[in-house]
Amino acid sequence: MHNVVIIGSGCAGNTAAVYTARAGLKPIVIKGLEIGGQLSLTTEVENFPGFPEGINGPDLVENMKKQAERFGATYIDGEVAEADLSQRPFRLRVDDDWLVTRTLIVASGAKARWLNLPSEQKLIGHGVSSCATCDGFFYRDKQIMVVGGGDSAMEEANFLTRFGRNVALVHRNDTFRASKIMLERAKANPKIEFLVNTVIEEVFDVEQNIVSSVRLKNLATGQTTMRDVDGLFIAIGHSPNTKVFQGQLNLDPDGYLLSAGGARTNVHGVFHAGDVQDRVYRQAITAAGAGCMAAIEAERLLEAEGH
Ligand code: NAP
Repeated sequence: MHNVVIIGSGCAGNTAAVYTARAGLKPIVIKGLEIGGQLSLTTEVENFPGFPEGINGPDLVENMKKQAERFGATYIDGEVAEADLSQRPFRLRVDDDWLVTRTLIVASGAKARWLNLPSEQKLIGHGVSSCATCDGFFYRDKQIMVVGGGDSAMEEANFLTRFGRNVALVHRNDTFRASKIMLERAKANPKIEFLVNTVIEEVFDVEQNIVSSVRLKNLATGQTTMRDVDGLFIAIGHSPNTKVFQGQLNLDPDGYLLSAGGARTNVHGVFHAGDVQDRVYRQAITAAGAGCMAAIEAERLLEAEGH
């Protein structure tokens, strides 16, 4: 029987592990599919307080893990395939093993959706990004491209005009899911050029490990064109990793965990942390803060129960 099991090894899960480990609770962290979470997909992180020179994303999460391990956290490989939260203690299946725990912190994150072109995948962290707040700064005076037609794409395109010489917004349709106000704001921005009915067929240059251009296809005319690009931001949505909790934890229509206040979920003893619940801020530091909140909730509950 464990006191705390934490699902996810990104900023939220690792911070929850540091706090619960320091409280002597010997947390178990299930690493999940994307070990280290979204930070493991970036290169330089310049906005995490405490690192005036910036820090490499994978190094930052690895440091957090080492810090948690120093205080007694145990990390295990694998993913949660099944969860039974119908009563405490909770039961979780990881591969063929069932873990039993008094409290659970769900920090399983949200996957950024990608175009899934092989060239795009190879250049993630080398000019291809899913986070304008994280990486926009690196494209000062450069040519930026954003893909998507929802609010995220409009928000990112607008934000990126602060940095880029120009921003091309590529959308596969000519109608937009974005709210009217966000769309109008983007359309009124003279630095944003809209390329509708258009998809990216290939990202260059994998050989040089840097984004230099893309090949675009106009779906209406069938015409293909090349275009120079330095920074490519994919903003086609996120999918929260909550499938195993469907029907047990309250989720919103897109699958994000619904908070029951603070870090609490609708199930007593199950807490949330990070992007699995947060569709708004999605930052390393906010995820870390949320991990701390969830850990404190778990500690207080266990202490009140005399564990
Ligand atoms: P979204 O509304 O689901 O939009 C995703 C966009 O990506 C759609 O335009 C879709 O095109 C496109 N897309 C999906 N898969 C694609 C693919 N494989 N290739 C090319 N394009 C693809 O996602 P979102 O913009 O992330 O927004 C999610 C939710 O968060 C929304 O409810 C939104 O309002 C909210 N949000 C709000 C704010 C804000 O208010 N500040 C900011 C960000 C997000 P199609 O239209 O052709 O399907």
